[in-house]
Amino acid sequence: MHKPYMRIPYTEALAAPTVFPESATTLRGAVAALQEFLTAPGPSARSSSTSRASTAVLTGAGISVASGLADYRGSKGTYRVNKSYRPIYYHEFLQNHEARKRYWARSFLGWTTLHGMPNAGHFAVKRLGESGLVQSVITQNVDSFHPKAHPDLPTIELHGYLRSCACTSCHQELPRDVFQNELARLNPAWAAFLQEILASGALDTEDPDDRRARGMKTNPDGDVDLPDAPYTTFRYPACPSCLTSPPTVGDCSRSTVEIDADGAWNPTSTAGILKPAVVMFGESIRGPVKAAAEHAIDSADRLLVLGTSLATYSAWRLAKQAKDRGLPIAIVNLGGVRGDDALSVDLGPSQGGRGGARIEMSTDELLPALVEQLRQSSNFGAVRESHDHAAEEHGASVFKDMMS
Ligand SMILES: [Zn+2]
Repeated sequence: MHKPYMRIPYTEALAAPTVFPESATTLRGAVAALQEFLTAPGPSARSSSTSRASTAVLTGAGISVASGLADYRGSKGTYRVNKSYRPIYYHEFLQNHEARKRYWARSFLGWTTLHGMPNAGHFAVKRLGESGLVQSVITQNVDSFHPKAHPDLPTIELHGYLRSCACTSCHQELPRDVFQNELARLNPAWAAFLQEILASGALDTEDPDDRRARGMKTNPDGDVDLPDAPYTTFRYPACPSCLTSPPTVGDCSRSTVEIDADGAWNPTSTAGILKPAVVMFGESIRGPVKAAAEHAIDSADRLLVLGTSLATYSAWRLAKQAKDRGLPIAIVNLGGVRGDDALSVDLGPSQGGRGGARIEMSTDELLPALVEQLRQSSNFGAVRESHDHAAEEHGASVFKDMMS
């Protein structure tokens, strides 16, 4: 059976989008278009006067940009960071101890820069969920900002999440922070080096020249170079649960999990390898996650795409599924989107957003304005108006503090 493996995303430059309706080039016009899109009666009999038509939201890296994480693709839809960088493939990670050392060493240094807070865009999605306008959120992001911002509106994390590691043998998860502390304990020279480069500010940038200027040595492909401690000395822990109870393998024999005197995974082991709980290149999305995403599209009356160029096949497939079902689609993204024309075909220029929209604007600017407009127009109804939003306001102010 064909399995859709995670592939290197579509890398060609994408054409600039045609914004529609025409009025959606201004913030006011874009808000009006999305208001019409979200509040128009649904196309199906499922939507009666008492139940709102339901919208599925599909998000990508663009919605996290305002949280301070680098966008995967540049604003023109092309890679902009370290073009020679080649991500590790799942089979390589599984089979190669040396490749894992290198992966975890880089990840150990990078983990500290991957912390941030959900931004105004995520909290606006939360409000849309509370209002009943949005029923499901599918994200390609692995940063956990959606589940943090709206724990009550479930998020399908298509490509997994960085907050945990998962065992490739027993599939149990370990929080990434716990794993990080173990890496620090097993690699004291690297831990000291990390403190040093954190103090230098070199990890605040992804530009190799900038990093060099701040005193961090990198080799020509942008990798960190730690003199006296090459990647091959890096150690990583075994899965604690496999260590206690080695799993049985295919032929009913027991696997072996061995560690060195400090607890680092030993290459004589046949199990207990932890990986980040994200879908790696060459790995397929887990069946239940894929099914949940497809179900979300199948049970929606329309699709709102936020901050993604749909470059990954898994995301493109879901948009295509919505299109094939005849759902209205609205896309908010800075820069081109894969299949832009195909997704917006059949729409007359005069429709105001009801049948779909294509907006080129940042989500953290547009979505809060949309929420405010919906609230003023009483589109949110009385249901959740008494809800206390202190928590998200607090989140937003923390975010502002971080940016100032
Ligand atoms: Zn395990």
